Amino acid sequence: MDTPYVSLSEFNYVIERPDCTLGYNLNSGNFIILDQLSCQVLRAEVAIEQLPSDSLGFLESAGFLVRTNERKAIELRLSKFRKPTFYSHIVITPTIACNFRCGYCFQNDMRASDQMSDEIFDRVIEYLIGSVSAEHRNLKLTWFGGEPLLAIDRIEQFNVKLVKALGVAKMPIQDMITNGSLLDESVTQRLIVMGIKKIQVSFDSVVFKKGTHRGIVNEDGSPSIIASNALKAIAAGLSIVARVNVDARNTDLIPKLATALDTVGLSRCAYYARVDDDNGGANIPIRYSSTNRIPIIEVVDESHVTISRAEFAAREKQLLFNQANFALLLDKLKPRLHFCGATDGSMMVISPLGGVSRCWNSAGRVDEEICNILEPNALETLGLGPISEQWDSYSAFDHDGCRDCKVLPLCMGGCSHPRTMLEISQPPCTPVKYYIDDLVRYVGTHLSIEGRKQ
Ligand code: SF4
Ligand code: SF4
Repeated sequence: MDTPYVSLSEFNYVIERPDCTLGYNLNSGNFIILDQLSCQVLRAEVAIEQLPSDSLGFLESAGFLVRTNERKAIELRLSKFRKPTFYSHIVITPTIACNFRCGYCFQNDMRASDQMSDEIFDRVIEYLIGSVSAEHRNLKLTWFGGEPLLAIDRIEQFNVKLVKALGVAKMPIQDMITNGSLLDESVTQRLIVMGIKKIQVSFDSVVFKKGTHRGIVNEDGSPSIIASNALKAIAAGLSIVARVNVDARNTDLIPKLATALDTVGLSRCAYYARVDDDNGGANIPIRYSSTNRIPIIEVVDESHVTISRAEFAAREKQLLFNQANFALLLDKLKPRLHFCGATDGSMMVISPLGGVSRCWNSAGRVDEEICNILEPNALETLGLGPISEQWDSYSAFDHDGCRDCKVLPLCMGGCSHPRTMLEISQPPCTPVKYYIDDLVRYVGTHLSIEGRKQ
């Protein structure tokens, strides 16, 4: 693939500042200061051959000049991470039940009160013991739901068994995704004892309403139960991330959401995420053919509350630029080095009934499961069935929009689930695609150089 000929990277940006000219390369993620000649070369005003060899070497090492087909090189780089030999991230859904019923939740049609049985827990423990004995030490275990804290006793029993089998030193890293409403002080202490260090809670409203609105504050402006639990958990030593779900009901309230988060003291650990309708836009019905129960029911998600990707991108841009959280902005310009765990095959998600799938969005959807963990040799043959093959054959490079996309190195085709499992053709574009030029200009002009803040 390498050629002796050097050419300009297609991912170059040149940013004029009052004090200097910067270059940014979207594929390498590098920012560099450009001298006049290099700047002219990157602008294609002067031939590359005019560069002295040290400048040529520097621009090449920083990714601004290339001798390869860059898109082929990206594809090759990603393929190296596909199909690892073991699952390093195990997501356990001890229950699909939830004490909230949020209008947009994709699991609402799958609710059941079952909690994971000892038999299933024992199979997971067996897998973890096997991985640790094979010297696979960087294991991560995430508790997911439904609302996992409805099954706190079961999670505790699992941990007692696992510690007994592995010893404290070899325990996997554990975290949890919860709505936060049950995360009181005693539950927090129990999680800390289990070694769970990181928790994601979520909000979707300014004002809290039990069972339906995950608000940040109460009617009287005091922190809601979720906010107050999160604050106490932080004080107790847990790391908290607060996700704010954005849809048509609250998109105009984003400034109020931001103020409420600021008032209660959670804005520094918060991020905003678009409620997904899996189809790239809003108001298009999607057909799911799965529940976690027979008979299979066709459920039509009207997607009535979602906002389009473009609208969310505009909101995100406004928030990011106004908050001036520079580290977050800079982070948006870092290239992704691999696909998500579902796509590269390093993650498995286990439902309360033992169904094994590869993606968070597949939790509880029987027709997206690879196998059931209780089947003989289930974990040894995970890579062999048709669902695994669907995941393994997926590549963003098979899709026209992505193959030629200008932000491909930052997005890598986004979430694979809609195209892999739902046969949806629209690309699930990152919000950054909609404001990349402004983002590069903003970061480039505000970047601190040699200790000087602009
Ligand atoms: S396919 Fe999408 S939802 Fe599934 S793990 Fe990957 S990024 Fe997440
Ligand atoms: S999903 Fe959209 S933003 Fe991402 S690579 Fe594909 S076309 Fe580009």
